[in-house]
Amino acid sequence: MKVIQKVGVLGAGQMGAGIAYVCAAAGYRVALVDKDQESLTKGHEKIQGFSVQYAPANACDQSQKDILGRIEFSLDVNALISSQMVIEAIPENEDLKIEILKHIGTLIGADVPICTNTSALSVTRLSKHVSYPERFMGLHFMNPVPLMPLVELVQSFSTCEDAAHLVSAFVASLGKTAVECADTPGFIVNRLLIPMINEAIYIFAEGAAPVEDIDEAMRLGTNHPMGPLELADLIGLDTCLAIMRRLYEGFSDSKYRPCPLLVQYVDAGRLGRKSKKGFYDY
Ligand code: NAD
Repeated sequence: MKVIQKVGVLGAGQMGAGIAYVCAAAGYRVALVDKDQESLTKGHEKIQGFSVQYAPANACDQSQKDILGRIEFSLDVNALISSQMVIEAIPENEDLKIEILKHIGTLIGADVPICTNTSALSVTRLSKHVSYPERFMGLHFMNPVPLMPLVELVQSFSTCEDAAHLVSAFVASLGKTAVECADTPGFIVNRLLIPMINEAIYIFAEGAAPVEDIDEAMRLGTNHPMGPLELADLIGLDTCLAIMRRLYEGFSDSKYRPCPLLVQYVDAGRLGRKSKKGFYDY
């Protein structure tokens, strides 16, 4: 495995933009690739926002410019080629991820780790589609990436020790704390978090309490910084649904059935903050 100088990030959405920002802030050069110009522009705006919101108190304008200057924004997946580490952060859709992982595997050297930021898909199943699956693993950042200190590290059945050590050292170099988890649906955080969100949606759907009260109850009653429904809007309702479905199928257990209202919201394109409408209007 090579020394990491440049990180390739695929997908400039909320996670990809955050990952690109923290990598550049840690001194890495970054290639941030998206499939369309509008998403790339939005990713650029998000990163500018991060550099205002999350800059250390003593950061000067120049150091923030330097961070942005280390990020190359591209519509061309070939921009990943000279990276020594690639992180995939495209939507939580297995077919889409398989297609792109197959392609990336052919572009970069066998000694370059490829990581997926999947929230809940099987890392082992995805690894079968990457050439040299031993360098593939899950690297699950939390949202918003610049703020959240945790990253879950998930090895597939094929991940080799060299790749796992390199990725673990890389996470430490970003100033994040890694927790290892086996390749089980939802890993640790989402297996606990998303069923709670789903249950909150049931409470609302049953008419038991309005959205604002459910959120306030959890903020004031359990000291959560955000209520479950505002958090669902932040995560993206499509992502929440994909994770619930993965838990439901992965464990073959009806306790993980997605709330029908969540399915309807996603079908209606009501995805939370990213579509400006979810449980709240934005
Ligand atoms: P998002 O919808 O905000 O962004 C995905 C981006 O990928 C979009 O900009 C889209 O244009 C781009 N994209 C789609 N297909 C592409 C392709 N073939 N090549 C290049 N770019 C492509 O999604 P997100 O919330 O950033 O989630 C990304 C991944 O991170 C998902 O696997 C999700 O489960 C995971 N994740 C999400 C959260 C969260 O809170 N949203 C937290 C942890 C992990």
